[in-house]
Parts: sequence; C-alpha cells; structure tokens
Amino acid sequence: MIIDVHGHYTTAPKQLEEWRNRQIAGIKDPAAKPKTSELKISDDELRDSIESNQLRLMKERGSDLTIFSPRASFMAHHIGDFEVSSTWAGICNELCYRVSKLFPDHFIGVAMLPQSPGVDPKTCIPELEKCVKEYGFVGINLNPDPSGGHWTSPPLTDRHWYPIYEKMVELDIPAMIHVSTSCNACFHTTGAHYLNADTTAFMQCLTADLFKDFPTLRFLIPHGGGAVPYHWGRFRGLAQELKKPLLKDHLLKNIFFDTCVYHQPGINLLTDVIPVDNILFASEMIGAVRGIDPETGFNYDDTKRYIEAAPTLSAKDRYKIYEGNARRVFPRLDAALKARGK
Ligand SMILES: [Zn+2]
Repeated sequence: MIIDVHGHYTTAPKQLEEWRNRQIAGIKDPAAKPKTSELKISDDELRDSIESNQLRLMKERGSDLTIFSPRASFMAHHIGDFEVSSTWAGICNELCYRVSKLFPDHFIGVAMLPQSPGVDPKTCIPELEKCVKEYGFVGINLNPDPSGGHWTSPPLTDRHWYPIYEKMVELDIPAMIHVSTSCNACFHTTGAHYLNADTTAFMQCLTADLFKDFPTLRFLIPHGGGAVPYHWGRFRGLAQELKKPLLKDHLLKNIFFDTCVYHQPGINLLTDVIPVDNILFASEMIGAVRGIDPETGFNYDDTKRYIEAAPTLSAKDRYKIYEGNARRVFPRLDAALKARGK
C-alpha cells in the first residue's frame, strides 16, 4: 500500500474559517467570542469536502492512506493566548478525527498541539493524550516556533521541550516538525518559513545531544528536509568540526525526511543523498503548491511520479518509502493497520 505521511485538512467547510475569524475578533472584543458549540459542520459536509478533493486525488494518483492533520498554516499559534490555542486545537483535531471515522481506510489522524508563545509546552499534554488515546491518532505536529517567524522559543534540544518528548516516548509516537503561518514579513510562509524551519530543526539537533537523552525519539522533517539534503556535505563537515559522531549515528536513527519536494531533480538528490530508510512518502496534497507544472503537464505535488522515476531506487527501496518506513516511524499506524488485517 502507499501511505502519504503528510496531509492537512486544507479543504474544511468554510464554517471553520468563519468561526476562527470570530474567535480572533473575540480576543479584542470578548462579546464577539463564539462558543465552540456554535460551529456546526455535518458529516455530509465533511464527506463532500474530502471526497471531491483529497480522496479524489488519492484515487487518481494511486495512494491509499493519508496521515492527516489540521491545516498547518491555520494553526497560527501566535494568535491569542493558550486558551485561544487550546480551543482552536480541540476543534481542528476533532474534525480530523471525524474525517478518520468517516473514511477509516483512507485517513488516520495526527494532532496539532495547543502551543502558545511563552507558555510551557507541558500544557499541550492533555490535548495530545486525548488525540492519541481517544481519537487513535498516530503522531503530532510540533511547532518549533509558535511565535510565527520570530523564533522566541528555545531550540528543540532545550529541556523546555522535554515534557512533550517524554510523552512522545511513552506513547511511542513521532512528531513532524512543522511551523505555521509566518507573521514576519521577511519570511513567506510556505516558500521561506517552512523550509527555514526544516533546516533549523535539523541544525539544532546536530549541535546538541538530544537523542542521547531520548534514544527512541523520532522527528519527521517535512518538505524534503528543507536545505538539508542539498547541503549534506556542509552538515557532515560541521558535525565533524563539532566532534560529533557521523550523522548516520548522531541523527539518522531519529530524524526522517518526507518527499514533499516538487520536482524530479530534487527527489533524485534526496534519494541519492539520504539513506532510503530515512525517507517517507508524502505529498502535502492539497497544500502549499497546487498548480500544474507546465514542463511536465502534471501537478507539482503529484510526488509519486518522482519516486517512480527516481533512477537509484529499487523495488525494495520504493516499498520502504511508500509503506515500510511509515510503519516503523509510526508504530501506532502499523498496529492500527494490522488490527484491520493490513
Ligand atoms: Zn504541511
């Protein structure tokens, strides 16, 4: 089967955005603040929003199951306080849970966390536990910069984040390191902030020894790892100067990359440079780049085509990228599939 490890609910019915806009208005004007119960989205509306979008494209392009989380750019952890983030995360996670119940063969959830700048990450634990234990979610998206482009939190290797890591290890779930909207005009959200964050997360891990404290902790760095594979020699050299072990021993037991790279030469480089055991198939469809590439006639985010055409991959390699690695990095996904005889 083909598992896409990176999909967001970017096509939620418009009531969700309308509710969020009222919530944001309510930060300044408490009288405008909506109740959670005022958001009403029926199962038919959810079904329509998926069948005509993600599920249609999955069937057309030939993927089977998407690991599905709330829309990343809408997390916007910089807006409001913890209570605002907490209510918003609860709503967005519940919608992904409902989608996973409506389409159990095609979607399984990953949680957004109710992060808020300057707030102790341990406040995220109740929502995290609910999503894993009650909703059957198989991972989390962890935002290394809840300030939205100002980087006011300590690096991911700081003890600040350890309560999240302790819970991840206990529940045996990975985190995709995923920022949200940039509110810094210098950084375009999907063209700069996302890729900067991918690169930054990797470099933070390189300079520290986080995985000595958490040998089984797993991070999935999306968008093909940002600049990491392209500059692999630089990172190897920096690790050497810092007297760190070889990257395969220092980081690659714990850090994985997805395939959300939207052209063939990028995938060729990724699959040539990064060991195949560390690459997980993903498209981030329907997401950041929605157009058709005039050079190929196919959608930029139709990433399966690039994996199929990558010259160095064997059939066994493709199995790992499409399925085997996802089952290993997301053990709860593997267990859920086995429970269904898959
Ligand atoms: Zn994403």
